[in-house]
Amino acid sequence: MRRRATRLPYVLACAPVAAITAATLAPPMHATAASQRPPAYVIAIDPGHGGRPDDAHPDQPFDPGVIAASGLAEKDVTLDVAQRLQKLLTAQSVRVVMTRNDDRYVGIQTRMQIATDASATLFVSIHFNSFTDPGATGALVLYPGDSSLPFAQTMSDTLQRDLGGWGIASDGVQAKPDLWQHATMPAITVEAAYLTNPAEAELCSRPAFRKAVAGAIDGGILAQQPAIATRKAEIAAWDAAHPGHAGATAAANRPLPSAPGERSVLPVLVVMAIVGLLLMHQRRRLVAAALALANLSERVTERRPRVRWQTRRRRAARRRALLERARHTPRRRTVYDELWF
Ligand SMILES: [Zn+2]
Repeated sequence: MRRRATRLPYVLACAPVAAITAATLAPPMHATAASQRPPAYVIAIDPGHGGRPDDAHPDQPFDPGVIAASGLAEKDVTLDVAQRLQKLLTAQSVRVVMTRNDDRYVGIQTRMQIATDASATLFVSIHFNSFTDPGATGALVLYPGDSSLPFAQTMSDTLQRDLGGWGIASDGVQAKPDLWQHATMPAITVEAAYLTNPAEAELCSRPAFRKAVAGAIDGGILAQQPAIATRKAEIAAWDAAHPGHAGATAAANRPLPSAPGERSVLPVLVVMAIVGLLLMHQRRRLVAAALALANLSERVTERRPRVRWQTRRRRAARRRALLERARHTPRRRTVYDELWF
């Protein structure tokens, strides 16, 4: 009973602390009422393929895409180029929506749904080509229908201009009506080079070439949507005029549409202040609990390193076996093959 009585002042102290925090951090009224921040252009970037075998979920699909003779997997090159492109576009105040940002499997419909949900202005899927003849070369741009043709042509021209110096010839544009047929925005697939061509596969392993591919695609997007540059200047001017606005600098840089928005840090700070006061009051019990936990975890982790090491070795062996099999057998059908044929 005595403890309850002593806790009361701490709880009561939270109210004025919360009020002062709120008054100090609340944005001034004129900042939000004066004008709206110009909306950032939204561009959807789709790194093709993705995912790896998972012992814990053997039924989970995975799709490495083309695997070059060197072992280089298309899914890794597409993700690297996409992330480089994401940085270039973000620097131009574009809000980039990535259909995946790590090595995971994402279905075709989900990829387009992500772009549609974000109201993307343009959709760019990044791939690297394959063909039975290792002599096949060049950069090809695929498009689903007439509404995407101008974007495909612009991108093809830019790829030719920027990748020609690397020896990548233009393979032109090609209609693929089944690919991204439900797109509500101009949608294209860039097949930047052939991973089945030894010389182009070697280029794809070089960071400098991947940087050049990302730069070329960035150039194609800007050529298709020149208003991006104007919007960047408008956003910069608005941010300069509203330095205290919470969304002024962060709004354009969200990597994913599902990322939690930073609408206001105020409730978080108030909760942190209250939790902090309560923690101070209960510190003796917390220290005792932490010591007990540390004691327990020491006992548990004694066996873990070996278990982890064995799991890692088993997974690596399985990955090596899969890679070996993929190299010596005809390429397995993937979700993309369903669309090609
Ligand atoms: Zn592909």
